[in-house]
Amino acid sequence: MSITTFSDLGISESICTAIQEMGFEAPTKIQEAAIPAILKGGDVAGQAQTGTGKTAAFSIPLLERVDTGLNQTQGLVLCPTRELAVQSTGEILKLGSHCKGIHVTPVYGGQPIGRQISQLKRGSHIVVGTPGRLIDHLKRGTLNLESLRMVVLDEVDEMLNMGFRDDIEQILGFAGEGNTRQTVMFSATLSAAIKKLMKRWFDNPELIQVESQVSGASGIEQYLVEVRDSMRTEGICRILDLNQYKRSLVFCNTKRTCDSLVDDMQSRGYASGVLHGDMNQNMRDKVMAEFRNGRIDLLIATDVAARGLDVENVDVVFNYDIPHDPEYYVHRIGRTGRAGRDGTAYTFSAGRKNKNIRFIEKQLKMNLKSIPLPSVKEVKSSLREAFQEDVSKTLETGGLRPFIEQVEAIASDRFSPIEVAAALLKMREESRPEEKEEESGSVPKQKRSARKQRSKPTKKDPFYTPFVKKGKGRSRKRR
Ligand code: AMP
Repeated sequence: MSITTFSDLGISESICTAIQEMGFEAPTKIQEAAIPAILKGGDVAGQAQTGTGKTAAFSIPLLERVDTGLNQTQGLVLCPTRELAVQSTGEILKLGSHCKGIHVTPVYGGQPIGRQISQLKRGSHIVVGTPGRLIDHLKRGTLNLESLRMVVLDEVDEMLNMGFRDDIEQILGFAGEGNTRQTVMFSATLSAAIKKLMKRWFDNPELIQVESQVSGASGIEQYLVEVRDSMRTEGICRILDLNQYKRSLVFCNTKRTCDSLVDDMQSRGYASGVLHGDMNQNMRDKVMAEFRNGRIDLLIATDVAARGLDVENVDVVFNYDIPHDPEYYVHRIGRTGRAGRDGTAYTFSAGRKNKNIRFIEKQLKMNLKSIPLPSVKEVKSSLREAFQEDVSKTLETGGLRPFIEQVEAIASDRFSPIEVAAALLKMREESRPEEKEEESGSVPKQKRSARKQRSKPTKKDPFYTPFVKKGKGRSRKRR
């Protein structure tokens, strides 16, 4: 399967650099279709949910159209809520971080208008706002749309549901009907009301709809874990420790998230590796070989890097980020449960993102089973069981003579061997940090697993084995 890159879409170098820095590996489906369409200059109507990458789909061509040498408002983005206005402004600023001298201003109700007025006075190339506040500025004359080149109506369906229809039409009226202005909209649905709006204000719009031709993957247990973003890494650790999964795949949406997650997982003592598009073939082959031979048992990857990945026996797939598309969801979780084996997939979600996962569920006509994050108590009891099993196995394997001698030497006449064993367990327990509050959701780093030796080794430690950190290959030697 050939992969479209951002530069294939005719995006300028400065924006491509920003995209690279944001860690986006490849355009999402809606971006692949909408960016070239908008760049052509005609009106465009895109059908896309949040979570599909629609903000970048209109922000990239919007930035391309702005002339920073002209100190006038050239782009206007209408969105239903103040949160979305702030979020979209942030995304535009990041994408435009290499566009010299670009000014983007969010305007929304609830914020003192004076501050917005002085920002607009200084000159703003792109204004992102909620309809009510935009009208306020237009009426006061503090926002001038004479040089407007593009107007974007984001989440039109939401805006109409919120009763902004008249406001939108009024703003479009200010923005000059049918002149050089390009009109773009995104909406999750194309209702009759939206079509009516398009008929009046759009000039022969190109319709962009990206349909997923997929059905849900069966035979895989699929769970939804609703936790805030900052708890996702902890979530993976608890789920891994509770279930003692051996080989796991974690999917993130960006290269940057993959990099920071692999660092976190390694510092928590998990034998992890990363796979993404910034790695050369040599590095990828090495990580894949390590994953296959069990030197690493947790692989963190982007969708593109994982394309064509063929590894047997993946016990579990985690969606650290919700995929941009239902099709990706099916591809991701299809990595587990191969060849008639049982597979399990966990997807993390919270707040606004729940909408994205509901969309995937609806498209795939299935429901994820919602489960709570396992508690610290559950994880600890599972770890204890696993530790007891490990001890039994070690006893059965034998080769204990030199250690028995040590125990006898320690015990001498004063203690029984059982007391020595108890002291060793106590030392093991006490060498770890204090238990944190369960509410904080944090299992102390070193209390992870008995299966893997996860406490940080020191040379004083009688069980010390050197830590093997292999540059970007990132693996911790299993012991
Ligand atoms: P949106 O649908 O615009 O709300 O975007 C959802 C999330 O996806 C945002 O956090 C974006 O920064 C992110 N995103 C957008 N495009 C891409 C891409 N091509 N690759 C990875 N992440 C992306």
